[in-house]
Amino acid sequence: MSNATAVMTIRGPVNATDLGVTLMHEHLFINQMREQRRTGLVNDLDMVVREVGRFTEAGGGTIVELTVAELADGAAPDPAGAHTGERAGTGWSSGSARPVANVTALAEVAARTGVHLVLGTGHYRDPYLDKAWFDQHCADQIAEELVRDISEGIPGTGGIRAGVIGEIGADKWYLSAAEERSFRAAARAHRRTGVPVTTHAARWPVGLAQLDLLCGEEGVPPDRVIIGHVDTVKAPLDYALELARRGVWVQFDNLRSRRREDLDHLSSRVLGFARAGRLDQLLLSHDLCTTADWPDEGGVGLTHLLGTVRRHLTAAGLGEDEFDRLLIDNPHRALTGT
Ligand SMILES: [Zn+2]
Repeated sequence: MSNATAVMTIRGPVNATDLGVTLMHEHLFINQMREQRRTGLVNDLDMVVREVGRFTEAGGGTIVELTVAELADGAAPDPAGAHTGERAGTGWSSGSARPVANVTALAEVAARTGVHLVLGTGHYRDPYLDKAWFDQHCADQIAEELVRDISEGIPGTGGIRAGVIGEIGADKWYLSAAEERSFRAAARAHRRTGVPVTTHAARWPVGLAQLDLLCGEEGVPPDRVIIGHVDTVKAPLDYALELARRGVWVQFDNLRSRRREDLDHLSSRVLGFARAGRLDQLLLSHDLCTTADWPDEGGVGLTHLLGTVRRHLTAAGLGEDEFDRLLIDNPHRALTGT
């Protein structure tokens, strides 16, 4: 991108100052049926349009949509629709970019709601990865595809470009062979494009191993890496501070609970992080990923952070201006590297 402060969205480059309130880790259409047979397919266009509309009415501006190829396959209102013609009969492999039908549906959401959508590219985590394909493609070849998505466009979409790398993941407490290759590819694609790398590191503190590889071995500047799901790890504040000391972005992104106990835990972590002087390295998001996370099925939806979470954090002592930094300034800095 020619302008360092511009962020690539589904409708083209947007100046970071125009992005507004930004959710850094969400999924609008997603297929996790491999693991969640009842709730794992979100593909209702009208529901998504309605809820994104509620988000923009509540003051929301931008959603970073991290449904990479392995999660986007079949994740569209009409996955076999007219737009997928070029893939007919070829089957899908993890070596491909997002399916066209998924990108087309997201483009319709953006057109109907006015939201800015920043798309991710990359490869998810081990159970979802096509091991044979990873065996057959070296890190530089995989990086080439990510660079293509970021610089030229996702194939078949008429030039719609990704704006971030991720979510790329580790399934367990180590990086598997395929994951290691995916992470090396992500790092090399970052070094060629400058867009940030955002990760899935859930339940185990595997974000540290991810940093060792991305930053220690592959030379990605730490402040261009976002470690995700930090709030799912045991003793999350200690882990978050350890990550922060290494210079990366820390993301609390499993904010899908209305339970007072969960909100209290979040408050103490955010305030603890703030008291340690690290607020400028923190990002928040919901990571909606199943139908149960959407209001139609009783979930919190896309306005939880702007409503319940904001009220809870500010009542606990976080300043309104500090909350705004978490949802406006920090995402913009994370996306642009400024
Ligand atoms: Zn996610």
